[in-house]
Amino acid sequence: MAKGNGKNRQKEECCSFCGRNRNSVKVLFQGGDGVTICNDCIEMGYNSLVSSEIISVGAKKRATTNQLKAEDILKPQQIKDFLDNYVVGQDSAKRSIAVAVYNHYKRLVASQGNSSDVELDKSNIILVGPTGTGKTLIARTIARLLGVPFTIVDATVLTQAGYVGEDVESILSRLYQASGYDVEATQRGIIFIDEIDKIARKGDNPSITRDVSGEGVQQALLKILEGTVVNVAPEGGRKHPEQKFVQIDTKNILFICGGAFDGIERRIAERLNTRAIGYGRVDTTSIDRENMLKYVQPQDIKSYGLIPELVGRLPVITYLEPLSRQVLRSILTEPKNAIIRQYNHLFEMDGIALNFEEDALEYIVDKAIEFKLGARGLRSICEAIMKDLMFDAPSSDIKSFTVTKEYAEQKLGNSEVKLLVQKC
Ligand code: ADP
Repeated sequence: MAKGNGKNRQKEECCSFCGRNRNSVKVLFQGGDGVTICNDCIEMGYNSLVSSEIISVGAKKRATTNQLKAEDILKPQQIKDFLDNYVVGQDSAKRSIAVAVYNHYKRLVASQGNSSDVELDKSNIILVGPTGTGKTLIARTIARLLGVPFTIVDATVLTQAGYVGEDVESILSRLYQASGYDVEATQRGIIFIDEIDKIARKGDNPSITRDVSGEGVQQALLKILEGTVVNVAPEGGRKHPEQKFVQIDTKNILFICGGAFDGIERRIAERLNTRAIGYGRVDTTSIDRENMLKYVQPQDIKSYGLIPELVGRLPVITYLEPLSRQVLRSILTEPKNAIIRQYNHLFEMDGIALNFEEDALEYIVDKAIEFKLGARGLRSICEAIMKDLMFDAPSSDIKSFTVTKEYAEQKLGNSEVKLLVQKC
């Protein structure tokens, strides 16, 4: 440690970021000019870079560079194992996506080599499942694993070029921004298009009305899904007419689309029943009627109102199951960045050991189910329960705190829950 006067030494003994002294942290790294940083602040900084996708964890970095090698590609099992760390349940979706991503990367390797006449098709994915069951989470986790740029767009804001709303090309501007303005990385990125079901064709006859946010958008999307070179405005939108366009080839961009497709179960059931009496009989007694999404097929998506060409460009269809009570309970504590683990960590940084009684956790799950808030509601419920403690604890001298069911009940008054219902 540098020699200096008492004041300086004192300064060196504390983390310049969180202010804690050497004795309260595991490691204190020394920088120039007496600046120091502790292990917790490094970890927090690292996690924030990972969650904002500036850096990736476990990713084989070469995936983003020019030359991708066959041995760099993660195997489907490895991809699924990584997803398991963050996404509870949803095995079927995780397996399909792991294979699709694996094939996508094989396709990239093959396209570099020009060694075969067989051209591999893109494996764009469509995820069908109720809202809040993990569609975005899966897509985000995949992007984090692969270390490629990732962006989420909401299909409902897209309109046909020339109409109020966002042009479909703006999706690419977003990905370009997410890549840090790197064309090469953008061209290997992943785009998650949420609420794809909301741009379904309204009605069977497309020519009656001008459907600017439905079929028109689908046609525009089709082009970029198929693979084309698009002139992209780096800052997006029409606000910066002076900006220079960059050319992005969408051939190798992976598209993952998600949608709740409300009511599609009925169409699936109809199809299965029709088949049961006609040619190609299926045994209708073995159908799991509680979970019709399991049987979703491209024709169901088509009959819902996505144009056949678009459905054809989304060859991997998979479904997400509604979250059971048990899954909700696991989401609270099991994933690597589970909500409860995050609270524990936050309090640990104040030197407080935080515990949740099992009853309290069950109570949180009960409330999420009772008010139909799903997994998204778990966090809001926890926030409502924890907000007073998070305010008071840091300036108190408590060393541990246990959240009991009674405490949770007391903090989560019914009026609070009503507010949450509106928020979620
Ligand atoms: P969707 O895109 O299906 O509407 P999200 O992926 O945005 O839903 O999920 C909302 C939140 O709920 C996520 O941020 C995550 O915290 C939680 N969540 C939902 N499903 C799961 C799951 N299967 N495993 C872990 N967390 C989940």
